[in-house]
Amino acid sequence: MEGTQRGLLLVLSAPSGGGKGTVLKEMFAQDGNLRLSVSATTRPPRPGEVDGQQYYFLSQEEFEQRIASGGMLEYAQYVGHYYGTPRAPVEKWLDEGRDVVLEIEVQGGQQVKKLCPGCVSVFLMPPSMEVLESRLRGRGTEEDAVVRRRLEKAGEEIPHAAQYDYIVYNDRLEDAVADLQAILRAEKRKLERNRDCIERVLSTC
Ligand code: ADP
Ligand code: 5GP
Repeated sequence: MEGTQRGLLLVLSAPSGGGKGTVLKEMFAQDGNLRLSVSATTRPPRPGEVDGQQYYFLSQEEFEQRIASGGMLEYAQYVGHYYGTPRAPVEKWLDEGRDVVLEIEVQGGQQVKKLCPGCVSVFLMPPSMEVLESRLRGRGTEEDAVVRRRLEKAGEEIPHAAQYDYIVYNDRLEDAVADLQAILRAEKRKLERNRDCIERVLSTC
């Protein structure tokens, strides 16, 4: 018997091209209680990206206003642009008992770990730099210079995996999705999230 629990906050990081979007698509297809935080960014939309769906696309001035008014749970600069998590929807969903995923880079991940000690952090690890490069190029969304900057950035980000609670290898997609589901499931069964059931069950005798 479960009580009404506050939702779980999941921080998912990986280098660009590491497979966050791909893995999460499968997760959302299978878990109706999971919500994705839509980030704000100052980077331009990629072809097909729609404001309010993949990101809220803001000007630098708009973004800085949101920071100043406390509207961002966390934010960071990544390859020349701001990226940040709007605070209000995350708090609302967690209060409603929804599990919320933040798909964010490592600086933001570290901020969230400090701010929200109950969160769970997962680093999605590519099998190798070669595979990462081929996936990033295969996606075909960035020009060569941007791909090279993102690969360089990946070399800086991967050591930060050591600060995450879990590492999930994104070699076979099905395995990565199953691992992430197993982590969420186990985290929800932790004692600190279920302590109240001891009294609740005893009170039924
Ligand atoms: P991210 O969201 O982390 O930037 P994506 O989810 O866009 O990464 O994945 C980058 C590319 O790699 C996409 O073209 C995707 O189809 C491919 N990809 C992701 N995971 C796998 C996997 N496990 N096996 C094969 N290709 C993958
Ligand atoms: P992309 O431009 O490929 O969509 O994202 C670039 C990087 O920014 C990725 O590592 C992605 O996880 C990260 N990112 C996306 N949204 C946020 C956010 O709200 N905060 C932080 N800190 N990083 C984010």
